[in-house]
Amino acid sequence: MRIVLLGAPGSGKGTQAKLLVEKYKIPQMSTGDLLRAEVSANTELGKRAKASMDGGQLVSDEVVLGMIQTRLSKPDAKNGFILDGFPRNIPQAQSLDAMLARLGQPLQLALLVDVDTDVLMKRLTGRRTCGSCGAIYNVHFSPSKTGNKCEKCGGALTHRSDDNEQTVGNRLNVYQQQTAPLVNYYKAQGKLRTVRGVGAVNVIFKNVTDIIESQIRPLADVMGKIESAAARQAAKAKAAEAKAAAAAKAAKLAAAAAKIKPKVKPAPPAAKVKPVAKKVVAKKASPKTKPKKAVKAKPKKVK
Ligand SMILES: [Zn+2]
Repeated sequence: MRIVLLGAPGSGKGTQAKLLVEKYKIPQMSTGDLLRAEVSANTELGKRAKASMDGGQLVSDEVVLGMIQTRLSKPDAKNGFILDGFPRNIPQAQSLDAMLARLGQPLQLALLVDVDTDVLMKRLTGRRTCGSCGAIYNVHFSPSKTGNKCEKCGGALTHRSDDNEQTVGNRLNVYQQQTAPLVNYYKAQGKLRTVRGVGAVNVIFKNVTDIIESQIRPLADVMGKIESAAARQAAKAKAAEAKAAAAAKAAKLAAAAAKIKPKVKPAPPAAKVKPVAKKVVAKKASPKTKPKKAVKAKPKKVK
């Protein structure tokens, strides 16, 4: 399955992506991870990406697409992928479509994890992290029972500076302007499905997998049936071939046993099949061709 995940910062799509990776055993491709991997492997793309980042520039779409294409060629991506964090805008989506079309692996589904903006604000601004163990709380949805201290280790809870309302508001605005139009882009292709990203993680994931099972699985099943039918056909042909070979061998042995010269070959097995078919046709045809009068007439002649 080939899926793009869409959703605002704080929508929880990253969590859903991880659960999908576990369930369907397909890799999640996030641009951040791909960048780090290419840079640390010091590949050509990695060098170009590093040069951009060192110069304080964004990594070009071309480089990102190259990294995705490289990643797609790895064996674990054979059965599909989940793209998270790319594409972020319409031109990237168009380039991605073009690349996947060249590879003959078009996207099957664009899954939007939809969460209202006020909930996103609370999720992102209410986040508190334990400085000692890294546990995450939220003052609005999942506060620590011990106030400003971590429930697990008693460490102090900190509020990241970029989790303030203004910064979060800016991030959400950028998303609204650049990424939200992708919803219409994929809707126009008939590939968009939406899941509400509010409530328990496992309930959201159930809805996500229901969408996948109903959208992608039937397609995969049809393809699987076509493939297995072809395999059955091939197996049948092979079995018939083996049977014919065995029959020929047996006939040869029988001929040798009867001390008949091998020149007198028994009829090939294909010929054995044909008369059977002819007999069936003949039986079917006989009642029609024989008029009832003729049947009645026969006894008279005998008398
Ligand atoms: Zn802690």
